[in-house]
Amino acid sequence: MEKAIIIRYSEIHLKGKNRGYFEKLLKNNIKNSLKGIEHTFTAMHSRYLVENYAEEDGDLIIEKLSKVAGIHTYSHAFVVESSLENIFAAATEICKGKKGTFKVATNRADKNFSPDSMEISRLVGGKILEKYYKDLSVRVKEPDFTISIDIREDGKTFVYTDNIAGLGGMPVGSAGKGMLLISGGIDSPVAGYMIAKRGMKLDAIHYHSFPYTGEAAKEKVIELSKKVGEYNGGMNLYVVPFTHIQEAIHEKCHEEFMITMMRRFMMRIAERLAVKLGDQAIVTGESLGQVASQTIESMTSSNSIVSMPVLRPLVAFDKVDIIKISKKIETYDTSILPYEDCCTVFLPKFPVIRPNLKKVQEMEKALDVEGLIEEAMSKIEKYEL
Ligand code: ATP
Ligand code: MG
Repeated sequence: MEKAIIIRYSEIHLKGKNRGYFEKLLKNNIKNSLKGIEHTFTAMHSRYLVENYAEEDGDLIIEKLSKVAGIHTYSHAFVVESSLENIFAAATEICKGKKGTFKVATNRADKNFSPDSMEISRLVGGKILEKYYKDLSVRVKEPDFTISIDIREDGKTFVYTDNIAGLGGMPVGSAGKGMLLISGGIDSPVAGYMIAKRGMKLDAIHYHSFPYTGEAAKEKVIELSKKVGEYNGGMNLYVVPFTHIQEAIHEKCHEEFMITMMRRFMMRIAERLAVKLGDQAIVTGESLGQVASQTIESMTSSNSIVSMPVLRPLVAFDKVDIIKISKKIETYDTSILPYEDCCTVFLPKFPVIRPNLKKVQEMEKALDVEGLIEEAMSKIEKYEL
């Protein structure tokens, strides 16, 4: 029996006038995610259909689809030529090995097909019970599962059960473009995933302090960016050399302001690159109060030198909840690899927790801010992931 995957959208149908645009984006995103896997793709009224794929590609297709934002639910279906015999065969096949209560729901788009929906449901239910009366019984209200039968106008019928939850969210590209500050830590990959899921297409930027941080630390960030990219239709990572900036700060500024100063450079460079690439927002993995550098005063200090909105999707999250998501998106094991991050180099023993903005601005005057930024930006490496 031929198999198919029925895909349903999520919030898109709420978006009135934009609906066409959202649908087109989602369709393209799904097609891109399945590139290289043989299949046919059909857009139907308010759902999509993936068919004609090799049996052994079934799991891979599901894995890819599970990372496409905007998919509400999907189902595995049998596709048969519309006839009662074929429908019986598919429905009983689906029930193989199942236990509990069920009902049959039929939808007949092809009004020439007879009998009518009610009668089909009744007959199919009867067939199932005939075969599996020991394990299954009918229950119309809140059954354990529903066998759905869609008799299409084109002479084919879908038979399926269970709507499996998709990723949800909005199609990537529907909410503009952003620049993710990605470190090797747990938080920023999760932040990227969450924003991508809301429909923002992301670029990523990473500050690298060679030779204080080595090749392995960079590889780790590449690996994390790839993972986030799976939810983002791929992602470009820009690696910025940060060593000279850190050395300059170390030399010219009070030790306890190291992190505050670094953050400001990170934000400035991120914004400049964002402008170049047409990104409209900066995204970080900061969470309020998580560490000394994530107080509202620190956020004020780093916001004050950029005019782009800074999105912090994790701002109100507890660490345990962030870790849960990082495990789900499979970034956790990479994030906890013990390589140095640029923020652990020159780390002061007692960082300022509530940096005073005036003081910070005054101290910064000792630095050739413009020269340092220009130098770093001229040496950016780009990775297309
Ligand atoms: P993470 O788990 O994402 O590393 P964190 O809890 O370690 O975050 P910080 O070190 O204060 O927190 O970093 C806050 C945010 O600043 C990060 O989430 C990330 O967005 C950004 N950031 C930190 N270090 C870097 C870096 N080397 N390159 C790019 N962005 C960085
Ligand atoms: Mg970190």
